Amino acid sequence: MAEPSLVAAGEEPEERAIEAALRPKNLDDFVGQHRVRKQLSLVLQASRMRGRTADHVLFSGPPGLGKTTLAMIVAAEMNAPLRLSSGPAIQHAGDLAAILSSLSEGEVLFLDEIHRMSRPAEEMLYMAMEDFRVDIVVGKGAGATAIPLELPPFTLVGATTRAGLLPGPLRDRFGFTGHLEFYSVPELELVLRRSAGLLDLKVNSAGFAEIAGRSRGTPRIANRLLRRVRDWALVHGVEQIDARTASAALDMYEVDKKGLDRLDRAVLDALITKFGGGPVGLSTLAIAVGEETETVETVAEPFLVREGLLGRTPRGRIAMAPAWTHLGYAIPSGVFAQEQLDLFEPEDAASTAEDWAPESQ
Ligand code: ADP
Repeated sequence: MAEPSLVAAGEEPEERAIEAALRPKNLDDFVGQHRVRKQLSLVLQASRMRGRTADHVLFSGPPGLGKTTLAMIVAAEMNAPLRLSSGPAIQHAGDLAAILSSLSEGEVLFLDEIHRMSRPAEEMLYMAMEDFRVDIVVGKGAGATAIPLELPPFTLVGATTRAGLLPGPLRDRFGFTGHLEFYSVPELELVLRRSAGLLDLKVNSAGFAEIAGRSRGTPRIANRLLRRVRDWALVHGVEQIDARTASAALDMYEVDKKGLDRLDRAVLDALITKFGGGPVGLSTLAIAVGEETETVETVAEPFLVREGLLGRTPRGRIAMAPAWTHLGYAIPSGVFAQEQLDLFEPEDAASTAEDWAPESQ
């Protein structure tokens, strides 16, 4: 199998440690997302003025846009301790009961990927969020009894990449929902400036712009590319990173001007050269690029669809007109433009930040 892609990498402990160090610690340092920031700031300020625990908060949006960071900021701004867990880690109601019953008053509980929690745990959470109470079921079958347990007031901060998958009753129990949008290039430049300061790196404006433009609207990717450019500059003895340095480094890592990496380009290239632009089924396409179906679907596709380079149709994947030009091929007649795709499959062509991930997740 091919090497992991640079834009999708980052699970190593060292990467995570650096990522943690680069996290903004308060709302003032948090770049962009003006609407969410303003609304959240008001919610938190009002809670502080009332001397009450903050309302439950839900953040939705694609990975790497700052949901975990905001959860940490909520705790910091409320001067409250923070507990971190995630939907997949809570498979039984008992797992959740153990966490909830050990919370202290005012504590912030962050549940990442909250849409992946099991059903019984979810139902327990409804009651905990609304009444600060859970029923612990002891025993099985006819002899089972529910023992009510009072909980101290706490703030639940949920994060989801798929707000559409959250059941209505869960969504309704959040007092505030913030949807995070992809970042503009100037916003990513600000993220990078801040990170470069923390990493003690010298980068000029053109250098920041070059990296920001290849970051797919995502701060996590921007920070990762910055670290790779830093490595390149170190090895090549470059003191100040400019556009040329950044460009040379990122070209070497196969991240192109649009932010496409090797896998993205391989997918589009296979679509165009092996299947005449499609339509072709996902699994056939995955075999053609020597990758798992899931990798193509979760790693490459969301970005390619968002950029209008790849289309999902009922008959399979197709390369959209801009994909041909981006890869340097002449567009043959009959290739789809985005508007034509919208006509026959509006919901899929419109799949964006809100609902970007595949059902199989
Ligand atoms: P998510 O939880 O949405 O996947 P994270 O909160 O873990 O995303 O953010 C990933 C990284 O991106 C963090 O380490 C942080 O440094 C950076 N980051 C995210 N949002 C911002 C922002 N608005 N300003 C500055 N850095 C950010």
